[in-house]
Amino acid sequence: MRVPSGASRAVPTMDAADLKADRQPLEGAFDLTPRTLKGDASALSIEWSDGRVDRLRWADLRKQCPCATCRVRRAEPPPLFNILKPEEAAPLRATGMLPIGNYAYQIDFSDGHKTGIYSLELLRHLGQA
Ligand SMILES: [Zn+2]
Repeated sequence: MRVPSGASRAVPTMDAADLKADRQPLEGAFDLTPRTLKGDASALSIEWSDGRVDRLRWADLRKQCPCATCRVRRAEPPPLFNILKPEEAAPLRATGMLPIGNYAYQIDFSDGHKTGIYSLELLRHLGQA
């Protein structure tokens, strides 16, 4: 039995271009990225790749939290009498932002809430409001 020389060359290889193509968003509808992203005590500032600059107040971001718990809570009537915990009554700010892949950020708020995943598309949308 004879193994043809150069048989190992027949093994398919993935080149860098293939890998990059795999990471393109499936829908391709939202292709803006933040050029800079910085937070201060009261707001998040985003400079987008198209040059637009948005300043989103942490309190507004918190109110629009996209997590399941907050979505349910927003659909309910507000409580008649609400005793806030000290951390809820204090001015709200973010204590951290964690990138999720390259399409979203998880924001840690000073009231202890951190289950909201804010997609770039949502952040852009909130900036338009
Ligand atoms: Zn939430």
